[in-house]
Amino acid sequence: MRKDILIIGGGLGGLICGILLQKNNFNVSIAEKNKRVGGLLQNFKRKGCTFDVGMHYIGSAEKGQIVYKILKYLNIYDKISLHEMDTSGYEVFKIQDKTYTFPKGWEAFKNRLSEYFPNEKVAIVKYAETVQEASNSFDIINLRYPVSLNFGKNKFAETGIYDFIDELTGNDELKRVLSLMNSMYAGQKDKASLYTHAVIHNHYSQSSMKIEGGGEEIANALENEFVSHGGKIFVNEFIHKFETKDGLIESALSKSGHKFKADYFISGFHPSLTIDMIEGNYLRKPYRKRMQQLENTISTFSIHLVLKKPTFQNFNFNFHRYLQDEVWGADSYHPDTWPQSYLIYTPYNRESTTKCLSVFTFMSYSEVKKWENATNESHTESYKQWKEQRAQKLLKVVEKDFPEIIGNIDDMEVLTPLSYKDYLNNKQGECYGIVHDYKEVLKSLVLTKTQISNLYFTGQNVNMHGFLGVSIGSLLTAGNFIDINNLVKSISEQE
Ligand SMILES: Cc1cc2nc3c(=O)[nH]c(=O)nc-3n(C[C@H](O)[C@H](O)[C@H](O)COP(=O)(O)OP(=O)(O)OC[C@H]3O[C@@H](n4cnc5c(N)ncnc54)[C@H](O)[C@@H]3O)c2cc1C
Repeated sequence: MRKDILIIGGGLGGLICGILLQKNNFNVSIAEKNKRVGGLLQNFKRKGCTFDVGMHYIGSAEKGQIVYKILKYLNIYDKISLHEMDTSGYEVFKIQDKTYTFPKGWEAFKNRLSEYFPNEKVAIVKYAETVQEASNSFDIINLRYPVSLNFGKNKFAETGIYDFIDELTGNDELKRVLSLMNSMYAGQKDKASLYTHAVIHNHYSQSSMKIEGGGEEIANALENEFVSHGGKIFVNEFIHKFETKDGLIESALSKSGHKFKADYFISGFHPSLTIDMIEGNYLRKPYRKRMQQLENTISTFSIHLVLKKPTFQNFNFNFHRYLQDEVWGADSYHPDTWPQSYLIYTPYNRESTTKCLSVFTFMSYSEVKKWENATNESHTESYKQWKEQRAQKLLKVVEKDFPEIIGNIDDMEVLTPLSYKDYLNNKQGECYGIVHDYKEVLKSLVLTKTQISNLYFTGQNVNMHGFLGVSIGSLLTAGNFIDINNLVKSISEQE
């Protein structure tokens, strides 16, 4: 008889897990707190512009590459429209007055950086080769089987990227440039591993694609695929409590009063908030404490602009602006010197010019914490004022690089760390899940299995964030129920 699984949270992790398990003889239901599934794969519209709240581009989705194979296996590749970003510079970084572009492919990268730093070829080659080796070092993320889950036993996961780069060269400018991809994972210089940095740089170096309909296009395709196999989705169901019996979770209760019974439960949201829903002594104290003390990545503050008229050529790249020499330290800025950097991009658009622009910068949750339970009017009003001041401050900085914006704004939407926390029910509006510390790999590791034998985790807090990280995390979660080697083999054979 098919067993019942309830997945709590219909983000990328929940949806992929749902498809994998529903296709493999389980009856899967997803309970999602919002009115739509997708989580960070969500768009919103303003005056003809469609903006992403989270994911807007994905890596290694070219035929034969890993994300391509995953999309094919999930049967959604043909249902989304991907467009390759500028191969001569998919990431553009401007530090003070100097601009550096990262082209597609490692040969091009080595050549480009050697043009910027002609005397540093040895360090550049070593960086490129080590990053590829590190990215290749873990089986499942490369779809190799039989899968050996050598968590914590990977030398690249136990090496700090900052130290690695520091030892490569004495050239401070090159050190900064080689560190730049840390913004894709909000890296902290004393914690980020060579492995995380490598997977992310290698993944985007292979190919970078914008999603025509934004992240939501992926969410819609995943939802349709899940439902087409008989999966059930329950929206507006905020799960807030587990009922337990004989050491197992028996049911999950939603705030709207529904009770979801299942044989197994998979949480696609924060591990610490998940275990807070379990009363009694089912979890050992050190485990509960470790989950509760997991450090979260920094949050984000963003402005989404609709201009009065199409003003910009579409950017077929991400433009990252650093206002000072420091390219680390997103997490340790001082509010007075905020913003230290920003990312600006134009959502995909078929016309040659656009009036839509999104600007993201990092921001700590501590800036908004005092308003997290704001209910009275004056409290809400002070939040609005703060938000407007912050938006204007960021805008002023952006206008220095893009003066065409001045006097040309028709509409603007602002998202804060509080928007992310409230929308996603995460801990602190964190962008990329929990922080992994190369010095204490096991301490910051969230396994898919919990101490309760019918409760599991999935999503960006297991393994890694981003399309690649979360889908691999979903394979790991699904591997508790189905043969992971067969699964990985089937995915790796996709053409
Ligand atoms: C600003 C930003 C930009 C990004 N850009 C990219 C990008 O370009 N490319 C890329 O690959 N990655 C990107 N990422 C990362 C990527 O979007 C995430 O890693 C990924 O979408 C996370 O998926 P998830 O399922 O783990 O979590 P989430 O998307 O947070 O999903 C969790 C779901 O659980 C639901 N939920 C929570 N609590 C409950 C509850 N109690 N009951 C019911 N439902 C609940 C939430 O509503 C949500 O739908 C970006 C992230 C951010 C923040």
